[in-house]
Amino acid sequence: MNHKGLLIIVSGPSGAGKGTICKELLQRDPSILVSVSATTRQPRNGEQDGISYHFLTRDRFENMIQNNGFLEHACVYNNYYGTPKDFVVEQISSGKNVLLEIDIQGALQVKNKYPEGVFVFILPPSMKTLKTRIEGRGSETPESLKMRLSSAVSEIELIKNYDYFIVNDTVNHATDILQAIITAEKCRVNADIKEIVRRFKEETNVKTID
Ligand code: 5GP
Repeated sequence: MNHKGLLIIVSGPSGAGKGTICKELLQRDPSILVSVSATTRQPRNGEQDGISYHFLTRDRFENMIQNNGFLEHACVYNNYYGTPKDFVVEQISSGKNVLLEIDIQGALQVKNKYPEGVFVFILPPSMKTLKTRIEGRGSETPESLKMRLSSAVSEIELIKNYDYFIVNDTVNHATDILQAIITAEKCRVNADIKEIVRRFKEETNVKTID
């Protein structure tokens, strides 16, 4: 019997460091699969189609919405972003743990559809650090920087919908905490426990009653 894998949703304000933490996690634990999002935004330097994102035209993205191809999708800073549904459903059903790194609107949609997901909110140590981090990317205009900072303030209130939060002080420390959360979630007593009890009873030849 296949047990469902975990769906781990890492989100938080833009610039909080979700991407860096997720990269470090995947390096430490290659058994975790990452869902590659689709987007209509232009690739940045060094980004590769199919690896960083599936870069789609607006038409193709809207087609996928019509065909119910997304687990969630959102318009973030004037561009569409979405999680292709099939990959996530297939991998989770086959027992793999899947990681989504998505914005907060998207995470709340996933929570409605799949509340058993593990919802993790990444916080920056302070607004000052957040500003420095976004500026450091060098990819924002003064207007888009302002937009990202003011959304961050209202987004932080939505932390109440999450299961866990992590303050991203250093990448190493934040990733240690994320791994600890995943380990704890794997040990959660849930529907799978029946299978575990059955196994132990079988070993001692005790008859099981479902
Ligand atoms: P960026 O343009 O900096 O790569 O991403 C902008 C924001 O979109 C980030 O907060 C990122 O987490 C979010 N994002 C990336 N992929 C997805 C997705 O598939 N769905 C949603 N809802 N947000 C996403």
